[in-house]
Amino acid sequence: MEELDPKYVSFLETWNGWIHNITFVFVGIAALITSFYLVRLLFKRDPKAKHDFINSNEINMFWYAMLSLTVAGGLYLNTVANTYVQEEVMHFIVRLFITASFATIFGLIFNSLIKVYYPFTVNKRLNRLRHQPRINPSNGNKLKLVSEDEEDQYMTDEMIEDEARAAIDYDVWLDEETGYTKIEKYDGSSLAVECPSCGYRTLRVIEEQILRSPTVDEEGELEEFLSCSYCGHKERKIVVTHRLRAKTA
Ligand SMILES: [Zn+2]
Repeated sequence: MEELDPKYVSFLETWNGWIHNITFVFVGIAALITSFYLVRLLFKRDPKAKHDFINSNEINMFWYAMLSLTVAGGLYLNTVANTYVQEEVMHFIVRLFITASFATIFGLIFNSLIKVYYPFTVNKRLNRLRHQPRINPSNGNKLKLVSEDEEDQYMTDEMIEDEARAAIDYDVWLDEETGYTKIEKYDGSSLAVECPSCGYRTLRVIEEQILRSPTVDEEGELEEFLSCSYCGHKERKIVVTHRLRAKTA
């Protein structure tokens, strides 16, 4: 049996200690990403807010968590097969190379699973949230989802126009007792517009907030947050919505 180089052996001990620590850090990052996401989701009580939050965050969150775990796994493997690695420095490099290749392959597999197949699962849940009965906040009544044929009378001209362009879908929830309506907007994926920064059609509305709901006397105001998935450009836009038409009984 070949004699071991004591300097190299002690280097390996230090190496293993550090790699274990860094592995824990990456496992911790994955756990933090996941729990931060789940906690934020937990605080969204409104089904529509939940829907939008999942829609814009879950797939990325899942990917970053899996990426962290993949890095952790790849690092951890650099502490195994010690007896073999101790024999010569070349074995250390072989292990480094093999584990890096494995981590890359697993990373690529996870990436396509998450970006190609996982959306089906997410969409099922989004669909359930979209059709979950809404509640009137002022009296607790269950709202009824108005059918596509009847919803126009509750919508503004602009909403009707939006739907006609097929990029956006509005759901009208009606309290049949009081006439209160809750109107929710769903963006089709075709909604991406040209990004002023990179020029690609990858700028999408990622979040939206109603600053003022439209009434019969006054138009409403929406604040839109847009983000480009290609270059990361972000912008904010205030959109004025049409006032409601006086209802004809
Ligand atoms: Zn861009």
